Amino acid sequence: MKFDRLRLNGFKSFVDPTDLVIREGLTGVVGPNGCGKSNLLEALRWVMGENRPSAMRGGGMEDVIFAGTSRRGARAHAEVMLTIDNRERLAPATVNEADGIDIVRRITRDAGSAYKINGKEARARDVQMLFADASTGAHSPALVRQGQISELINAKPKARRRILEEAAGISGLYARRHEAELKLNGAETNLTRVDDTLDQLA
Ligand code: ATP
Repeated sequence: MKFDRLRLNGFKSFVDPTDLVIREGLTGVVGPNGCGKSNLLEALRWVMGENRPSAMRGGGMEDVIFAGTSRRGARAHAEVMLTIDNRERLAPATVNEADGIDIVRRITRDAGSAYKINGKEARARDVQMLFADASTGAHSPALVRQGQISELINAKPKARRRILEEAAGISGLYARRHEAELKLNGAETNLTRVDDTLDQLA
């Protein structure tokens, strides 16, 4: 899955619409302290469905919205769009018809997040599964934040296994298995209820 472009609008320090074109061979972003390098990586995680405010270095998810400065007022919403080049048709089957896939996440103060995939409203889970099936996503080991390498060296075996599973592309299968187990449990409860009702009628 090749990322083509990241468009930020009102996200953290990127108050004005800003495009990051991700060209072939881009491996890093350099710039002075505080210019917004980490914010770019966080925007990428966020649009892929990251839901932990701590991963965004904030206390709550609304902290990703531009908070205002002495010269500019705070914004009421933030939006990030990720455009994926799908000309090689590597995307999961559900969205694999188009040459490009636009994923949009928008957060509005007091109204939470909304997602769109190619202009159609989607759930957070749809976006998360799309990336999990493509072996990437908000928790992808391919996105390396500051301090992560030393965390990995000191990690417990279970945490390391999760990283290997992400890389092997099976984390989507785990999520699906968990959902299937929940459905199975629900079906078993319903069956017990039906048995009880039949017993009462007999
Ligand atoms: P360093 O090299 O020091 O790690 P960096 O280039 O990674 O810095 P970031 O951490 O991405 O920089 O950006 C920090 C800047 O983003 C700070 O100036 C901070 O005030 C600003 N910022 C973070 N959240 C918001 C927000 N919600 N509204 C406005 N500005 C924000």
